[in-house]
Amino acid sequence: MTTAEDLIAAADAHSAHTYHPLPVVVATAEGAWMTDVAGRRYLDFLAGYSALNFGHRHPRLVAAARAQLERVTLTSRAFHHDRFAAFCTELAELCGMETVLPMNTGAEAVESAVKTARKWGYRVKGVPAEMAKIVVAGGNFHGRTTTVISFSTDPEARADFGPYTPGFEIVPYGDLTAMGQALTENTVAVLLEPIQGENGVVVPPEGYLAAVRALTRERNVLFVADEVQSGLGRTGRTFACEHEGVVPDMYVLGKALGGGIVPVSAVVSSAEVLGVFRPGEHGSTFGGNPLACAVALEVIAMLRTGEFQARAAELGERLHRDLGALLGTGAVTAVRGRGLWAGVDIAPKAGTARQVSERLMDRGVLVKDTHRATVRIAPPLVIGEEELEWGLEQLRTVLGA
Ligand code: PMP
Repeated sequence: MTTAEDLIAAADAHSAHTYHPLPVVVATAEGAWMTDVAGRRYLDFLAGYSALNFGHRHPRLVAAARAQLERVTLTSRAFHHDRFAAFCTELAELCGMETVLPMNTGAEAVESAVKTARKWGYRVKGVPAEMAKIVVAGGNFHGRTTTVISFSTDPEARADFGPYTPGFEIVPYGDLTAMGQALTENTVAVLLEPIQGENGVVVPPEGYLAAVRALTRERNVLFVADEVQSGLGRTGRTFACEHEGVVPDMYVLGKALGGGIVPVSAVVSSAEVLGVFRPGEHGSTFGGNPLACAVALEVIAMLRTGEFQARAAELGERLHRDLGALLGTGAVTAVRGRGLWAGVDIAPKAGTARQVSERLMDRGVLVKDTHRATVRIAPPLVIGEEELEWGLEQLRTVLGA
């Protein structure tokens, strides 16, 4: 049998080293559990950075994918197919909006949102071509494409990939005064994560998102919420923006929209805003393909039940209560987050975040450290209460708490 070590060595020999994964090689998975090539089971405390909100191979999603595999999987956008209208209608309705631009990955959808805002700025707001400005936040993560890393503040993500795309201004996340000053007559959009995932699950100060909403409305600037990681149930609501009663002008969605089965992303907005496109101005071969639409339609139907959001809220309370208790032990220095989503800063005396991840792996729990001293906890929303409790028990043990 090929061992994990062999497979990792072969992968290292033949793939670009763009990641630093934990040394576990997964062979199968179901629900909140993954099994490695040696048959060892691990509790998934990361859920593919929120792409697996419904767990691994949820039966409803597998059934939807299977049924679609028997019908048609791809037409490209050269021809219509019979799942597309339903996908757009249902997704727009879930968002309380009108129009959908389908893409495949989160970064692509962010790129599409940037293009949409610029075209809108030019065609509707009257911002001179080449003058459009988009305001973003420090600590952001919106993906890895050249334009998107142009406004990253993470040196690792950005260094040596220039020249960078102009037209972005970075303000500190959560700083309303800076935001107000950054909005000028050529500003077409503010692009924010309502909670910054990759930055360590950073929740902005209360009232910030609502104030940005008010400011952007006043100045005729589009408020674009990147809910690729925060959206679709993770925080206990369908959208993280809802916690502040905020409705943005545009949602950027991805990850969980494909149910962990297919890459699906989308920009969702008003008919006016997405109406700026003419045929030929934007697109993707795979965007809105039949298989993607079929799975996403099932995802939307599952979200409509409200069960997953309710579960994230309920278990999230438990998660944050238990993690909060760790603060008193001195093993962690901060806990942030909302719903079934937490960033835990590890105190130096308890080791690095990487060491904590490795020790957790040895105990059968998979999380991921970030570049800072943070461990992110984001289990699938289908995790059982006892499983969650067991995983947290492993964390307490690893931290010596
Ligand atoms: N936006 C946010 C908020 C994200 O968290 C991510 C992925 N971590 C992306 C965009 C990029 O998504 P993808 O990896 O699918 O390109």
